Amino acid sequence: MTRYSSEGATPAMLQWFTLKAENPEALLFFRMGDFYELFFDDAKGAAAALDIALTARGSHAGEPIPMCGVPVAAASAYLARLIRRGFRVAVAEQTEAPRKGKGAGKGPLARAVVRVVTPGTLTEDELLEPGRSNLLLALAEGVAPRRGRADKNAEVAAQSQAPLGAAWIDVSTGIFETASINAAALPGLLARLDPAEILAPAQLELGDFDSRRAPEMPSSPAESSRKRLAADFGVASLDAFGTFADEEAVAAALAVEFVRRSQAGQLPRLARPMPQADGSTMGIDPATRSSLDILRARDGGVEHTLFSAVNRTVTAAGARLLAEWLASPLTDVARITDRQDGWCWLKEAPAARNVLREALKRAPDIARALGRLSLGRGQPRDLSAVRDGLAAARVAASAFDNKNDLPSALIRAVGQLGKAAALEQELVRALAEELPARLEDGGVIAPGYDAQLDDSRALRDNSRRVIASLQNAYADRFGVTTLKIKHHAQLGYVIEVPAAAGKRLKDREDLLFRQGTATSSRFCTEELSELDTKISEAADHAAARERVLFRQLAEAALAESDLPPLAQALAVLDVFQSCAGLAAGGSWCRPEVTQDQAFDVRGCRHPVVEAALPSDGRFTPNDCDLSPGRSVMLLTGPNMAGKSTFLRQTAFAVILAQGGFPVAAEKAHIGIVDQLFSRVGASDDLARGRSTFMVEMTETAAILNQAGPNSLVVVDEIGRGTATLDGLSIAWAVLEALHSTIRCRAIFATHFHELSGLAEVLPRLSLHTMAVREWQGRIVFLHEVLAGSAKKSWGVHVAMLAGVPPQVVERARRLLNELEAQHSVGVKPLPLFEAQKILPQQDENALKARLLELDLDTLTPRSALDILYELRKEL
Ligand code: ADP
Repeated sequence: MTRYSSEGATPAMLQWFTLKAENPEALLFFRMGDFYELFFDDAKGAAAALDIALTARGSHAGEPIPMCGVPVAAASAYLARLIRRGFRVAVAEQTEAPRKGKGAGKGPLARAVVRVVTPGTLTEDELLEPGRSNLLLALAEGVAPRRGRADKNAEVAAQSQAPLGAAWIDVSTGIFETASINAAALPGLLARLDPAEILAPAQLELGDFDSRRAPEMPSSPAESSRKRLAADFGVASLDAFGTFADEEAVAAALAVEFVRRSQAGQLPRLARPMPQADGSTMGIDPATRSSLDILRARDGGVEHTLFSAVNRTVTAAGARLLAEWLASPLTDVARITDRQDGWCWLKEAPAARNVLREALKRAPDIARALGRLSLGRGQPRDLSAVRDGLAAARVAASAFDNKNDLPSALIRAVGQLGKAAALEQELVRALAEELPARLEDGGVIAPGYDAQLDDSRALRDNSRRVIASLQNAYADRFGVTTLKIKHHAQLGYVIEVPAAAGKRLKDREDLLFRQGTATSSRFCTEELSELDTKISEAADHAAARERVLFRQLAEAALAESDLPPLAQALAVLDVFQSCAGLAAGGSWCRPEVTQDQAFDVRGCRHPVVEAALPSDGRFTPNDCDLSPGRSVMLLTGPNMAGKSTFLRQTAFAVILAQGGFPVAAEKAHIGIVDQLFSRVGASDDLARGRSTFMVEMTETAAILNQAGPNSLVVVDEIGRGTATLDGLSIAWAVLEALHSTIRCRAIFATHFHELSGLAEVLPRLSLHTMAVREWQGRIVFLHEVLAGSAKKSWGVHVAMLAGVPPQVVERARRLLNELEAQHSVGVKPLPLFEAQKILPQQDENALKARLLELDLDTLTPRSALDILYELRKEL
């Protein structure tokens, strides 16, 4: 950016230079009266981004100063656009009231930056998506464990194993969580959290998220980070909140410091930091997330996502929690069962569910209201949100009156609801029935709540009445029937008469001439000015008193420690009623979730594809059995037959089951999946200069290197990006690795029907194919998954379906027949299968036999070790 010298600047511009120097990374919104003005390069950038007029004001160093401005009243909308475009905005307010009378005109009013608006620290509803969290993520590198004196290479390797501290905060709701992760897990964490802004060391790669990087900020050493966090949260030691690794504490302190700076030193209400245990959620890598459209579709929208297919929440906080649960499915059976028990009870109790749902519909977003109040940015509707939220919570609790069979999830949630009654009553008494949009508009506090406020208001209103009645008296006294008393912005109350009458009245001693125009004259009287002063003083008093009362009420709300857990309980209940509503429809089931490798889903559907089918289309449900003896499924079938739909719906079943949700199936039994890998649909990475095949192989490598025996892998068309034999060989080797080395549950969809031959050598491989029928030379997709393998390729049929001209299709059909005749020997029994057939099976059987022979109860550790050595020698 251009550097300007502040030499020769006017006093106001001097102020601008000072504030700008403190916030060089941000556009400076410089408050001048009813506008935020921007100058110099800021003005140029903002005018272009907002499509508003760029003008000039005065001059600096002989050049006109570029300027543009936005009205304060409409600032949120402009801010939102700037933030979305990646700008950061420092808001400089006038910190002293405009001076009247003598002081006016003496130097500029004091100004200070009261806030830096950044994507990760937003609180305004206008700038936020109601149903989504808005996270700031801070990352800090830890120190790799040292093993003696290391050479250079070992040091580099160790650094790549160094843990990363992560801390994320949602300023709008106060969520604050931390984790210590291994560096390789960073892409997964980024994809899961989808943070709006990221504070990270410059050398740390953020991949696709790099554009969300915040300007770097120095972090403090672990010890002082711990101390500062403890001080911020008023505890003697951070240990009070759990165990934090050093890098985790550093990241947490960094996040808090960033938030504090963005709010000009003020810290919003934050929940205590909660360390997240490693492995407590299912691992879902970024490629998997993007292939599944869990929360967002590829176009960035929420339509056609798993989220929208299951979301029946009625509050914004409920929608946020549902999104969070979907994004991070659990791995702990007890926690999953706890959630299931919660919604299943509601499913069986439609009357209670109805009462709850209706109550929730009237529950505003308490968490975000508290967020704004805690930053002094609260408006009247934030207090009414608390009031109405408490009322809604009371009604919601009544849904569970006299119910003594509640599961513990509901007991915990309902137990939070009946609290904070005193605060609710206070707010009911204090707040006016009709609330203004802004505190400055006045009329927030109800009459009868505060005697002092009532007095000021009475004085103001009485005087207004006196003035209204003066009009008649003056008309008589001055003999002008058309005389009016009006309020004028600059002059205050004035008497207005037609210009002709004005001329006659000009010399009267009891009238003071103030202003004349061609048609009218304005006068004042001593009496009128006295009343005017009285009114404005009373109005000032009333406004000041309202501000005091508002602040007291806001503080009372913030001090109510039962409020955040109550808001959270409402969100949990909303998610439960959403699940119950879904399950009550009859086509979603409660899955059985166990700590083993079970996998049997019956009558499973893809809820998004199902919803998108035309009204005459019916979705064909399918079974998916990956039980231990048949844990790998080879799925063949032509394009368009429904393979990717089947793969995705299976992945969805796992995400839903482990998130504690109902599953779109008749019946499901799922053994905990620790990591989910899905590669479905071409990911077009060509824009980044990597060929499709390279991308495909990179993603395949990621699966083979990371998946373990408890993972689920669903892959589509591995090896499609290269020549046939090449592709076939790769697909073959990958399938073998999944089956025999990784030994995970997997569905492998392919158009290489030659791979079916592997069923003879891989014992846990089951063959399935998409049902297709030929009818009058055309192909009909039945979308049914059948046992067996595809008899032939249907590419030519699909080409016809897609509208390839008939002559071309016919030519292709003939060519295919010829080629098949020529290669009939080569394609089917591929000699490679023969070779492979002997090795793995023999190895595996021999190994199995040896192991089964052992009498484990009598074996000594020493001889066990000997046997292991022997076995290894044979490999
Ligand atoms: P493939 O991956 O085999 O090319 P898709 O899974 O993309 O095929 O399915 C193609 C289309 O077929 C889908 O967009 C959907 O409209 C329809 N479809 C897929 N599975 C089903 C099903 N089980 N029931 C009904 N229609 C389906």
